[in-house]
Amino acid sequence: MKGKGSGIRGQGSGEVRSQKLEARSQSADSGFRALPSVDKLLESEELKPVLEHLHRRMAVRAIRVYLDELRQKIQAGESAAFAQDELVRRLERERKPTLTRAINGLGVILHTGLGRAPLAKAAQEALADVSEHFSSLEIDLETGRRGSRYRHIEPLLCELTGAEAAMVVNNNCAATMLILSSMARGKEVIVSRGQLIEIGGAFRIPDVMQQSGCKMVEVGTTNRTHLRDYKNALTPETALLLRVHTSNYKITGFTKEVSLDELVALARESKVLVVDDLGSGALVDLSKYGLPKEPLVQDSVKAGADVICFSGDKLIAASQAGIIVGKKKHIDLLKKHPLTRALRCGKLTYAVLERTLELFLDEERLVKEHALFQLLLKTPVQMQREARNLVRRVQADLQDRAGFTVKPALSEIGGGSLATESLESRVVAIRPKTMHVDELARRMRLHRPPVFGRVERGEYVLDFRTIRRDEIPIIAAALLSVFHQ
Ligand SMILES: *Cc1c(COP(=O)(O)O)cnc(C)c1O
Repeated sequence: MKGKGSGIRGQGSGEVRSQKLEARSQSADSGFRALPSVDKLLESEELKPVLEHLHRRMAVRAIRVYLDELRQKIQAGESAAFAQDELVRRLERERKPTLTRAINGLGVILHTGLGRAPLAKAAQEALADVSEHFSSLEIDLETGRRGSRYRHIEPLLCELTGAEAAMVVNNNCAATMLILSSMARGKEVIVSRGQLIEIGGAFRIPDVMQQSGCKMVEVGTTNRTHLRDYKNALTPETALLLRVHTSNYKITGFTKEVSLDELVALARESKVLVVDDLGSGALVDLSKYGLPKEPLVQDSVKAGADVICFSGDKLIAASQAGIIVGKKKHIDLLKKHPLTRALRCGKLTYAVLERTLELFLDEERLVKEHALFQLLLKTPVQMQREARNLVRRVQADLQDRAGFTVKPALSEIGGGSLATESLESRVVAIRPKTMHVDELARRMRLHRPPVFGRVERGEYVLDFRTIRRDEIPIIAAALLSVFHQ
């Protein structure tokens, strides 16, 4: 236990103390004395139900942190008293384990906070297989010598995208940094002002450029960038033209961006390279299924981009990973870059990626078996039926405590994919009568497994775009227990 802040700090000792300080230290003493001891709290009957779900050491830790905070406040002369509710709240947050399955009623399929998409069954099985046993991660089966971990995914990615070579790193942010560090360190990188995105979690293109040691040359304006803007910015120091897919926002109206084909033609003429950060990494054309269109990795390869990168856990919905595909000579250099070792993925990632990518070889099987497509392709009829099913399970019991309505809504795919497009969905909107809607949302989050819903205009909204049928009984049980608490 770190002894932070416990006890009275001896600042200014030996100095003349004013009467005010004297008074403060007296009230501080009584404030300290009013605090319960850790041992007493651990034995307390009232805390027993919540303590049952905690590791003892973690409970002691949470109690000490809370008491220390109170002591520091008292010390600083602020009013602070022990509040059991607050401690219970804190202890509930520590309930073990802290990383568990969750129920996503937010309607956002690729929600980074909720771990993005669930995995395909085949990927879950692969995960169990390589985690229980030793694995063939980095060994050549023919010779028994050290091999390459890329071999599990490189042929698949080349087949699926048409690229010459492929590799993976920890995530797409890592992929971008590796590419820029390896291909443009100390040189200039030209990018359109309309593509200087921030993805969230401090991933901003200008920062990534700086971190990678290249000089960003912005061209065009926020809404319009022309080919001549790139042309005029070219210097002998230019290493590459970077295109970034603006996956999480859309500029509409009087706009212009230069197509990848045009960028590639200009780059060839000027002997520089083109890198395409695609973000979501669509491998199938979603518009076939009535969903919004995302740029396909195959199209970027066909257009001739030298290196293309995208996430493994957006529209591929495998594990967190940054996938890089492109011309062999560039990928070979990336594989040898010192950063690559620091950014590499482990066996669990490779297992999940390999089995998920295999599904993409057969689109018919993919849409049937991949959890992502099961959610993307849910029909309004199906969602309506499921929403009604939930209401049927709870309405009679809870009619005095809440109002329930099934209604249409719009949900987004999320995860920086198709963020500007919405999908039609059905929701159950719950208007609680016995507690504030925020309290309902909080209690549902603290339920095991936690349930996440949107709070909208005084209603707690559960979106069936992201709720699976087998989760309905769990949500029903959560609602019953939360309203009867
Ligand atoms: C999502 C996204 C990233 C970051 O990808 P992570 O896999 O989350 O690191 C980078 N660039 C674009 C264009 C994105 O959409």
